[in-house]
Amino acid sequence: MRPEVLNPLFASADSLKGVGPKLEKPLEKLGLTRVKDFAYHLPDRFIDRRAVANLDDAGIGENVIVPLTPTQYRASRSGRGPFNVMATDDIGNVVSLTYFGRASYTAKKQLPLNERRWVAGKLDQYGDALQIVHPDHVSEEGGAAFGATCEPVYALSDGLTQGRLQALIEQALGDLPELPEWIEPGQLAKREWPEWREALIAAHKGANKAARDRLAYDELFASALALMLVRADNRRRKGVPLKGDGRLRDKLRLPFDLTGAQKRSVGEVEGDMAQQHPMLRLLQGDVGSGKTAVALHAMLIAVEGGAQAALLAPTEILARQHHETLIEMARGTGVEIAILTGRDKGRARESILMGLLDGSIDIIVGTHAIFQEAVNYRNLGLVVIDEQHRFGVGQRLMLQQKAKGTAHCLAMTATPIPRTLTLAQYGEMEVSRLDEMPPGRKPIDTRVIATERMDDVVAGLQRHVAEGKQAYWVCPMVREHETEDIAAAEERFDALRQVLGENAVTLVHGQLRPEIKDANMARFASGEVAVLVATTVIEVGVNVPNASLMVIEQAERFGLAQLHQLRGRVGRGAEKSVCLLLRGNTLSETGRERLALMRETQDGFRLAEEDLRLRGGGEILGTRQSGEQAFVVATPEQITELLEVAHDDARVLMERDGGLTGTRGEAARTALYLFERDYGVQLLRGG
Ligand code: ADP
Ligand code: MG
Repeated sequence: MRPEVLNPLFASADSLKGVGPKLEKPLEKLGLTRVKDFAYHLPDRFIDRRAVANLDDAGIGENVIVPLTPTQYRASRSGRGPFNVMATDDIGNVVSLTYFGRASYTAKKQLPLNERRWVAGKLDQYGDALQIVHPDHVSEEGGAAFGATCEPVYALSDGLTQGRLQALIEQALGDLPELPEWIEPGQLAKREWPEWREALIAAHKGANKAARDRLAYDELFASALALMLVRADNRRRKGVPLKGDGRLRDKLRLPFDLTGAQKRSVGEVEGDMAQQHPMLRLLQGDVGSGKTAVALHAMLIAVEGGAQAALLAPTEILARQHHETLIEMARGTGVEIAILTGRDKGRARESILMGLLDGSIDIIVGTHAIFQEAVNYRNLGLVVIDEQHRFGVGQRLMLQQKAKGTAHCLAMTATPIPRTLTLAQYGEMEVSRLDEMPPGRKPIDTRVIATERMDDVVAGLQRHVAEGKQAYWVCPMVREHETEDIAAAEERFDALRQVLGENAVTLVHGQLRPEIKDANMARFASGEVAVLVATTVIEVGVNVPNASLMVIEQAERFGLAQLHQLRGRVGRGAEKSVCLLLRGNTLSETGRERLALMRETQDGFRLAEEDLRLRGGGEILGTRQSGEQAFVVATPEQITELLEVAHDDARVLMERDGGLTGTRGEAARTALYLFERDYGVQLLRGG
């Protein structure tokens, strides 16, 4: 149970005064649903204002607080232009206070003629005249009564104003509890970090590195500790050592030799599975690096050792493709491989359930359905999770629990993660890397093209399809604008059908019903349809060797690692593949720099490092996909600077007090709950 001291922080947003139904949506958009979310909604920046006696003392472009006396109102003739309040300072300088929209009423009320007021805002020059556009504040009194000269600026959403959000955050901060200290006293002293409550308040008041760093450290520490608890729990569990004798693997007749990297990974897996405690290993490798063959070897080791193995895929269609591939590869081994998804019903399902229970099925491939309550195994020894990045740590633990927590676990992902972040994301696992591509793969010719050249791109696609080849067309999908994004994909789908013909194009996006999505995907995979228009869902990928062209619209909206993963879908066939990155019109300098990198390198890890540098960790950690929070507070710089320290501190704490029962241990539990890493605590209880 969550420590009581945290309850006020987890109270819902509407417990704050002034939050009604109207604000619910805008707040939710920013992720502000509980009091703690407000407290942790840290300012993007601060406006530093200087109090000046008159405008002679102020520079153009400077944020100032200055006493002014309004002398005249000037409305535009049409009533639609700006509303100006002409004012003079104490030595006769004239300045116009300019309001756009329907602000004249408020302006007149705040700025009555011939009465001196303190005005805060940015001094600009408009032609020869001095101007302050939309003063930030107007007050009857100056000095201390005017309030802070340093003002936080927060990220907003439609329907929220700075003032409104500031007031709500202030309320949340006014009611913070005192929390026990989880940071080691020596660390706290050495870094001169404030206590938690003080740090949070200070972080909203002004640029304060110590305060911000402490808050980031807290998050990193909680994350590291949670993963260590998972790992420790895993070590304590008694698994079943599975030693393969090679008799099934010897019968494999694969059409290729394993790459060095594949052999090494299989060796690492084999070593782990022979241990007493369950394997917890991540297999990381680019799209096309051959993870499936490694998974098959692992599963055969389990079967050789007398156990069953399960392969979990994130989608139905991927499960079906895995099933077919595995049957093909394992032909001649005599191993029984079955599939179970949510769509299997009735007799067929019953017979699968029977086979799992009596052990006649050796390997089961499927979706979540394979871990439903009704599904019982005779002796499940290994769980392989494909596309691990689709699942969070918490989810994975639940799955393992269903396998009675003793099965060996191999998680696979194609997301390249920089080394610094691997620790944060997968700190509880050992890692194997497939850093070598199977031979014969040709580099993908990647080009950046302006969106204005859409007609040329479509003409190129037309020629490509006329030659009997297939293509992906990817439209971006960013959660905040989901409906717009889907509308854009549908529009593109219609437009391409007009050009290429009704039956040449199909569409896949997240809001289609799963059956339809799968059916459309299957028509593309079978070659029946030439072009697949898709939002990023295809990132979880089915292999379509004949597809040798990929067009990615508004490529600047994707992370580099994500683009790299997407483009890995092409480049499998015998012929050279092309990836066209269409850049939108709203491209910043960094956006340009980023896309150019895609052309330069096909090294996923290098791209991921650049992503981290240019866009920040959240993108890479794939929080959007799995729905699980990675880091809310820590910035990429802070992750780089503090993750290792936090990790070391967590380890020392674990060594001294692995049950988290001492004073600091108890405090650390509070941190785990605060950052919602409490799955770690739950393991403690169970253990
Ligand atoms: P991943 O799951 O890592 O994206 P796959 O397991 O789907 O990649 O493999 C991609 C393709 O490469 C498949 O067609 C597979 O048969 C082939 N492949 C795998 N390993 C090798 C190898 N060592 N040599 C040649 N081809 C391979
Ligand atoms: Mg795969």
